Formats: sequence, C-alpha cells, structure tokens
Amino acid sequence: MSPQLVVVGGGPIGLACAIEARMNGLEVTLIEPRAGPIDKACGEGLMPGSLAALHRIGVDPPGRRLDGIAYLDRDARVEHFFADRPGRGVRRTVLHQALAERAEELGAERIPAKVAGISQSGDAVELSLSSGGTLLAPWVIAADGLHSPVRRMLGLDGRPQSGTRRRFGLRKHFAVEPWSSLVEVHWSHGAEAYVTPVAERLVGVAVLGGRPLDVDEVVAGIPELAARLEGAAAVTEPRGAGPLLQRARSRSSGRVLLAGDASGYVDALTGEGMRVGFAQARAAIAAVRAGSTEQYERAWRITTRDFRLLTSALVLASRSRFRPRIVPTAARRPDLFGSIVERLSS
Ligand SMILES: Cc1cc2nc3c(=O)[nH]c(=O)nc-3n(C[C@H](O)[C@H](O)[C@H](O)COP(=O)(O)OP(=O)(O)OC[C@H]3O[C@@H](n4cnc5c(N)ncnc54)[C@H](O)[C@@H]3O)c2cc1C
Repeated sequence: MSPQLVVVGGGPIGLACAIEARMNGLEVTLIEPRAGPIDKACGEGLMPGSLAALHRIGVDPPGRRLDGIAYLDRDARVEHFFADRPGRGVRRTVLHQALAERAEELGAERIPAKVAGISQSGDAVELSLSSGGTLLAPWVIAADGLHSPVRRMLGLDGRPQSGTRRRFGLRKHFAVEPWSSLVEVHWSHGAEAYVTPVAERLVGVAVLGGRPLDVDEVVAGIPELAARLEGAAAVTEPRGAGPLLQRARSRSSGRVLLAGDASGYVDALTGEGMRVGFAQARAAIAAVRAGSTEQYERAWRITTRDFRLLTSALVLASRSRFRPRIVPTAARRPDLFGSIVERLSS
C-alpha cells in the first residue's frame, strides 16, 4: 500500500515530521540512507522551546540541564537565565536515538535508501530510490538537510552566498566536567566558540567562522576557554558543516514541502535550528492534513521570522567594525540581551 506521506531524510526534523504524521493518524514512510544513531556537526543545545516541542511529541532525551546563555570576550561577560524553563544539552546521537525510537514505536515505516530523483504528475509525487525502485505518495516532505538534494532537484535552490562571506561550523567534544549550566558563546577575533555541556564529563565545542577554521586554533586564541580545556582529552573527531547560509526560493513545489535546514538556514550562532525545525515539522503536517501548501508557506514565514531577522542581524554585526563591541554592548544592556535570547529560544 502507498503511504499517505513520504518524509525524505531521517535527521531530527525528518523524524519529528514522521512522529507528527503518526500522531495525526497518517501512514508515513521515512527514507534515510544512514543507519542510526546519526551524528552531525551541531552545538547540541536544545533551547527551552526545542525541549518543549520534543516533550509534546513524546520524546525526552537525557542530557545536561541548560539554564541560559552567556556571551563572553576578553573584557566582558553577560549572562541571561531562561525566564520560564530550562533547555538541555543533548549529544546528537542520543537525540537521534530517542527520536528514531519514538517514530518506530508509533509505526513509521523506514526505508534505508537515498532519494535519487523526484517527479510529479497530477496528485502524485514519484520518488526514485538509490536502492532501485520507486515510491509513490500524494505528499512528500523533504527534510534532507542543509544541502538538500530534493531542493536542488526541484530547482528551489536560492542564490548562493559569495565566497569570502561564507561561514562554516566545526564541532568536537572534550572529556571534562562541565563548569557551567549556561551555553557559553566565546567571541574571539575571527570566530565564535559555542560551548555546551552535554553529559557528565562531556562538553561540546562548536566553532563558527570563515575558512580556514580549526577547533584547536580557535580555542587556543581564547585564553579562558583554553584554560578550561587544558589537559582534557578530545573524544570525538572534528565534524564540519557549511556553508551555513542556505536559501530556498520557495518552501514548496507542487505537493512537496521543504522542512528543517532544507527549507533554508541562516547560521548556527543563535543555536536555533532545531527549535525552528520542530515548529516547521508541526506546521508541515498540519498543511498536509489541510491539503494546503499556502498554509505551510504562511506558517513557515511566521515560525522562522525571529530566527531569520535576529540571526541575520547578529551575523551582519559580527562581520562589521562593530564586532569587538558586541559583547561589551550586551553587557551594558543585559535587559536587551535577555529579551533577544528569550525571543529566540522559547
Ligand atoms: C556547527 C553547528 C552548530 C549548531 N548548533 C545548534 C544548536 O546548538 N542548537 C540547535 O537547535 N541547532 C543547532 N544547529 C542547527 C541544527 O544542527 C540543524 O538545524 C539540524 O540538524 C537540522 O536538522 P535536519 O533534520 O533539518 O537536517 P540534518 O540533521 O542534516 O538531517 C538531514 C538528513 O537527510 C538525509 N539525506 C540527505 N540526502 C538524502 C537523500 N537524497 N535521501 C534521503 N535522505 C537524505 C541525511 O542523511 C540526514 O540524515 C547547529 C548547526 C551547526 C552546523
């Protein structure tokens, strides 16, 4: 029997789509080539809104409590403690496992393959699979990541960013007892280091910036962080992602909707990818049920507005002459810093 919905990509957002679909009684098939639990370059900070979205779909991955965000540079520090509820630092593999188990428990079918082609006629979308064969469905959600092959196949790739302005992310884990319940964002000369406690004796460091980018070099340039990590063994290999800015010309084409990073991404600087992606997963399933791609476009714009505007503004400031004044200004205006963090994280 053909499914009512196919989800392409079994990362966190694809899995959330599959879970939402089953919670709404839809027959769903998920296509993902990689066996889990899947790791990825990520800061691994689930902001309060992300955690609440996971709880809503019955997923509660273990991790380390996050009470807020701190911005630091050589001269200044500003902290904001989340107003209503904590977030959680969760190792990416742990999050993936929890989502995959929930999807399976709810009866989402999974095909281990890559989508290699897509075409539409009338009310049907046809997917060709790398494993051979095709799959037909009335609706497809593509949650196949930053460099979404489905987005490209549908001609929905937006304008690429120019070479010198491109930003990348790299992350690595260190065996050291977390020293704070805050996500620390250390601003150094040309890069940011985003530090998240994720488990007992485990801290993730994600560095963001232009190329060349190297975790150890960025850490060495931040004396306070270098001191914290001195002697701590690196327990994962660096994993990278980027260019981070990815634009989509539209979030839908016919009966195919784009969700998660595939639908467009700004930057990892504000740690909002998953909160926004989980909101998109919910909106995409509501749109499939309503049979309305316009409904999804509207919901997508609303759910991503703050992320697009505030994160773009911060990235722009980070590349301007204002960069050295970002942390001192935030430290002078903790109320403003706090209200921006709240808008982005809850
Ligand atoms: C350095 C860095 C730090 C970050 N820090 C944070 C943070 O602290 N908090 C936060 O919330 N977000 C953070 N993010 C963002 C977050 O990681 C992403 O928003 C999130 O991973 C998006 O999930 P996704 O499911 O859309 O995509 P992905 O996790 O990339 O999953 C896409 C899946 O699609 C599959 N796929 C690809 N092609 C095909 C195909 N042809 N057929 C079938 N399947 C396919 C892939 O195998 C993959 O499993 C960070 C990102 C970076 C780069």
